[in-house]
Amino acid sequence: MTFESLGLAPALLRALSEQNYTTPTPIQAEAIPLALAGHDLLGGAQTGTGKTAAFGLPLLHRLATVQGGGQRKPRVLILAPTRELALQVSDSLRGYAKYLRLNIHAIFGGAGMGPQLDALRRGVDVLVATPGRLIDHLERGSAKLDAVELLVMDEADRMLDMGFLPAIKRILGRLPASRQTLLFSATFEAQIKQLALEFMREPRQVQI
Ligand code: AMP
Repeated sequence: MTFESLGLAPALLRALSEQNYTTPTPIQAEAIPLALAGHDLLGGAQTGTGKTAAFGLPLLHRLATVQGGGQRKPRVLILAPTRELALQVSDSLRGYAKYLRLNIHAIFGGAGMGPQLDALRRGVDVLVATPGRLIDHLERGSAKLDAVELLVMDEADRMLDMGFLPAIKRILGRLPASRQTLLFSATFEAQIKQLALEFMREPRQVQI
């Protein structure tokens, strides 16, 4: 299988080929077609399997090919447990989106609010956030989630282990019901299954 055969936008294929991505990894081969078809996904994958591109390429393809509402509000929200993962995800996405004109920005706790407020004010297409800091921005009114078309929860089990369930539920309550949801987790304990049952629509499962 090739990335071309997955039908990804030419701008993404060009960036992938420059980064010497030739063949999709197993999780990418399974997840990308389902995500492109609009399904909700429960992905069982550890770090190192290529899961960032498994959710990143379909979401960037959507932004590249589907016109947004013309507002400067995030169309994609990615929740991640830690600052390190949020930065890693936003860096990887910027690489894949090299030939697209998109603002991809990470916000997380332990950093000053000023630059994050500036970035949100300027406009962000893809917002990568840790749950606690996103709640701070929601309370201040600096982050708006009513234009989100696609939500990714990355390392969902770690977010729950860190006690983010109440924050995640508050955030999910602010998102349009019509969004697509992709959830990635190394493990699928009862709490994750419950979250999926409550907040996802007929999710397809991909496991590697
Ligand atoms: P991840 O599991 O998303 O953290 O990715 C692990 C590493 O694999 C990262 O360094 C990616 O850049 C790299 N990678 C992901 N997918 C591919 C691919 N299809 N071909 C080559 N490298 C890849």
